Amino acid sequence: MNKKNFIYKKINKDIKNKKYKKIITRFAPEPNGYLHIGHAKSIFINFEIAKYYNGICNLRFDDTNPSTIKKKYIKCIIKDIKWLGYKLNKNIKYTSNYFNKYYYYALQLIKKNLAYVDELSKKKIKKYRGTLLKKGKNSPFRNRSIKDNIILFNKMKNKYFSEGEVCLRAKINMSSKNIILRDPVLYRIKYLSHIRTKNNWCIYPTYDFAHCIADSIEKVTHSLCTLEFQNNKLLYNWILNNINISHKSNQYEFSRLNISNNLTSKRKINILIKKKIIKNWNDQRLMTLIAMKNRGYTKKSILNFCKCLGISKQESVININIIENFLRKDLNKISPRVMGIINPIKIILTNIKKKNIIYIKNHPYNKKFGKRKINLYKKIYIDKNDLKIKKNKKLNKLKIKLKYSKIIKFKKIKFKKNKKIKYIKFSILKQNKNYKKKYKIIHWISKKDSIKIKFKLFNYLFKKNNINKKKNFLKYINKKSIIKKKGYINKDILNNKNKIFQLEREGYFIKKNKKKIILNQIISLKK
Ligand code: ATP
Ligand code: MG
Repeated sequence: MNKKNFIYKKINKDIKNKKYKKIITRFAPEPNGYLHIGHAKSIFINFEIAKYYNGICNLRFDDTNPSTIKKKYIKCIIKDIKWLGYKLNKNIKYTSNYFNKYYYYALQLIKKNLAYVDELSKKKIKKYRGTLLKKGKNSPFRNRSIKDNIILFNKMKNKYFSEGEVCLRAKINMSSKNIILRDPVLYRIKYLSHIRTKNNWCIYPTYDFAHCIADSIEKVTHSLCTLEFQNNKLLYNWILNNINISHKSNQYEFSRLNISNNLTSKRKINILIKKKIIKNWNDQRLMTLIAMKNRGYTKKSILNFCKCLGISKQESVININIIENFLRKDLNKISPRVMGIINPIKIILTNIKKKNIIYIKNHPYNKKFGKRKINLYKKIYIDKNDLKIKKNKKLNKLKIKLKYSKIIKFKKIKFKKNKKIKYIKFSILKQNKNYKKKYKIIHWISKKDSIKIKFKLFNYLFKKNNINKKKNFLKYINKKSIIKKKGYINKDILNNKNKIFQLEREGYFIKKNKKKIILNQIISLKK
């Protein structure tokens, strides 16, 4: 990654000023869904900074909200980070490890008359908060005595109140220009068992209260997050400046990754699943890491992509072609070649006497992949898209070259009753020295060497380029984003240990072993 961005510059300055002995970053996902390509950017930035400065990057699960977090997400997040190639500390952190400390810091704020227990309903709190144009209004419970607040806060903790009845709020400024500072909620009641602390607690800290303290407990030096938290920074610093904590972390924001024709918000992905537009989080059209793995993305292509993004504060939508090109580049190196036909037309070669045996390389430049034998028989399949049959006249003059083999010349076309092509007869031309210049080269497969197979091809999930900020994003769903085809493939691939292949002139495919093999497209050869 380019080290000239503002974060590296800031860290360099801090090191020069001897501000920190060790650089500590963290990646702090909320385990309420699976990781996506945006998280990969954040993982890349945080872990690479730690690596570069010989520091540490903590994985911390931000598990303060028992209603949304799940163990299965924790497991998968750990797996995905390891898959990307980053080593995790033995000591994985959880925000819930610090629940005792949060309680203690909340009491500190109450004792300093900087927090109070409010009895306003959630709706009223929102109403009293005001807007950008209208100042907020003080809650009638804002001026309770410190003693009463301590008693009430302990009652909150001891299950005296029901959910939503009361909450703890910071006492900052209801007229602040920054709405975040208008007495934000620090603690709320939830009668839910937490996956780690079970029923020990019924009060849970909010993100804003929890995050800055967790960063500081872990002595994080540079807490990096996305731009939407820019306004929260004032609150981040307010909390740290008003509690007694030895290390005070600092937050820095960078722009979120948005990818064209796709979305990454966990909330929106859940809507797609609920509406049955996609089945699951691993649907090959998504950009969650499990979906990308399922599609056939390599970790290298994801890391190379993150590397090229850099860090900035500029909001933008990155064209999906950029990551696809990194994928093509990587797959090109690791994929053996095979012949396969997705839109088959049967061809009969009229003048072939015996089969022609051809030895070809499995990979254009990597000798490790070895060679294979292919046979040209009388009956072959070629792809419909290679024959632009409009008028028979044109077809009459058609001469094409079969890749690695002969030049063939059109003879006759036979149609079925339903007007579809039954077969086309071609004859083999005698070798012409100039064939390279003249003829279109097409891929083919002998009927005898092939098996029938299902292909699944993918298009983008959304028709519009930038749907990240669109509320009505469902309007832009591409209804033709999965295309199923039946075609032919060289039967050798049944016993081939490789899972990923390049279908010559078509693209990269991954073998999915169901009862019958299916070949799923990873990516076409070129856009
Ligand atoms: P989502 O909106 O998808 O639910 P989130 O921000 O709520 O994402 P978290 O699990 O809280 O998800 O995110 C963990 C870290 O990953 C945060 O530091 C967050 O800023 C970062 N992150 C999330 N989405 C992106 C993105 N699209 N680009 C870059 N970083 C991201
Ligand atoms: Mg979130």
